[in-house]
Amino acid sequence: MNELTVYHFMPDKLNLYSDIGNIIALRQRAKLRNIDLKVRNINETEGVTLDQCDIFFIGGGSDREQALATKELSKIKDKLKEAIEAGMPGLTICGGYQFLGSKYITPDGTELEGLNVLDFYTESQKDRLTGDIVIESDTFGTIVGFENHGGRTYHSFGTLGNVTYGYGNNDDDAKEGIHYKNLLGTYLHGPILPKNHEITDYLLEKACERKGILFEPRNVDNTEEEAAKQVIINRSTHK
Ligand code: GLN
Repeated sequence: MNELTVYHFMPDKLNLYSDIGNIIALRQRAKLRNIDLKVRNINETEGVTLDQCDIFFIGGGSDREQALATKELSKIKDKLKEAIEAGMPGLTICGGYQFLGSKYITPDGTELEGLNVLDFYTESQKDRLTGDIVIESDTFGTIVGFENHGGRTYHSFGTLGNVTYGYGNNDDDAKEGIHYKNLLGTYLHGPILPKNHEITDYLLEKACERKGILFEPRNVDNTEEEAAKQVIINRSTHK
């Protein structure tokens, strides 16, 4: 059986609104392709290299947990940047997405240093952007999820797509997340992957490509995933 390894960073601090479900979805859809998905939980980064990592995942957290996680991850920020530049697939959610940028400004004006892996920033406000969200993406089709963040993120990289319901990166440009090489950053909790199998398969396929493993399309039945997606689409159109 082929194998892929996911590095799950900071699971002890960053797991809001069932972000862990993303790992379960990756494991399940890998299994459907006869791939065994190994998960390495990393809460301390001292001496960690990404040599054995095929996909990395970082969930979301409150400002406090986000600051603690940033401090820990700053020990390996150069390795993380190198891996992203080399095309390693990764998924980062909300707080985990925000701290890849240069800074996070809290509602009281305190500036928290980010990992500065990519050149963007986030400014938080007291009123939060919360609720269901629907996005139209050229790469993934319709994406759905749940957002709850005070941070407004601004950048000129590629995004996951255009927000048709909800907020996304900020209150202004109706774009959601970041898509840079094979890195995906997003505000979508819920968790995102079980409802958006296209994104799960994208991460797995990119990891397989890099490792030289066959990602067999197989006849995967997506009925339940599509039904879950439809619930949010329906809710957004009946409000
Ligand atoms: N601290 C961030 C915010 O409120 C992240 C929250 C989250 O991960 N849901 O914007």
